[in-house]
Amino acid sequence: MQSTPPALKETPDVSCANCGAKLVYKPGTTHLACDYCGSSFEIAQPENANAEAASRENDLETALANWAAAQIQEKTYVVSCKSCGAQSSLPENLFSDRCAFCGSPITVKPDERSIARPQGLLPFKLEKSAATAAFEKWLKSLWFAPNNLAKTALHDNFNGVYLPYWTFDAQTHSHYVGQRGDDYYETHRVRKEGKIVEEQVRKTRWTFVSGSVQRAFDDLLVAASKSLPGKYLNILEPWDLEALVPYDARYFSGYQAEVCQVDLREGFQQARTVMDAQIRSDVTSQIGGDHQRIMSLQTSLSETTFKYLLLPVWLSVYRYSGRAYQFVVNARTGEVHGERPWSWIKILLAVVFALLVLWLVFTVLGAQH
Ligand SMILES: [Zn+2]
Ligand SMILES: [Zn+2]
Repeated sequence: MQSTPPALKETPDVSCANCGAKLVYKPGTTHLACDYCGSSFEIAQPENANAEAASRENDLETALANWAAAQIQEKTYVVSCKSCGAQSSLPENLFSDRCAFCGSPITVKPDERSIARPQGLLPFKLEKSAATAAFEKWLKSLWFAPNNLAKTALHDNFNGVYLPYWTFDAQTHSHYVGQRGDDYYETHRVRKEGKIVEEQVRKTRWTFVSGSVQRAFDDLLVAASKSLPGKYLNILEPWDLEALVPYDARYFSGYQAEVCQVDLREGFQQARTVMDAQIRSDVTSQIGGDHQRIMSLQTSLSETTFKYLLLPVWLSVYRYSGRAYQFVVNARTGEVHGERPWSWIKILLAVVFALLVLWLVFTVLGAQH
């Protein structure tokens, strides 16, 4: 059994009290660990720490009116990738020579910048080794992958990255006017090839409808990063947002954070698109019938709030015949998603084999008649 680690000073000092080496946040714990002497230090919460700060809902209207005043700024080192445009903020002494998002070499020096400080984050829960194991398992599970992929893809290439997210809450109240279509059938007598036959013809009866729908949106997530394709960001959900902790620089020791590239206004627009699609689907199911037409739809929002958060992923970029492929692991749940190369030779062989089997089946069946 490990004894309780001694408390670290309140200031985000991230050097080891025993040997002076740089400490790294240990996933799944509230400790900073020293890789050199094995010491471990508890991340003590300051006396005045407010645990609710992480999940505090901020009023959207107030923030949009004066975002500059609404956000807490903080100084950090930001390095921009010339190839993919990713902007990563790094702890002062951590310099990466490769872009975590596309694997390109980084040749520029980081510049010191002021960026908005997130109010809360989910700390890493899975160790890098768990991400590596998930990657190896995934590689083995791939169908029609080139034979040498498992050997060629670098397994030990993971970077721990915090991705910025907005979450939005809103109560919506929508009024609609539309039409409901109900199908019915009419029997028609028609002449076919000289005979009179009866035929069923489908018709739709339209009636005017109006009504209202309401919905409470809670923690609708919008990625504030443009460095990962949007489809990944959605696939990585769900996140256990109930485990949020207030922002603390010590959770970043050993990790990078992607700088927010979608501002609050743009983030809210994206959230509105998702809300509107949901509301339209609510209206459609309330109208009922076989067909629906929405002619007007007016939505009012109230209690609209947001949070600005960082969520953790292990990210690996591997190269295969000159192309870069991304592999992402949700560092809370272990959910994985990756891009992959295909072996066209294997696919072609499988198609040829399938055709051969079909041909055999038909030949055998044909011979029986
Ligand atoms: Zn040490
Ligand atoms: Zn890049």
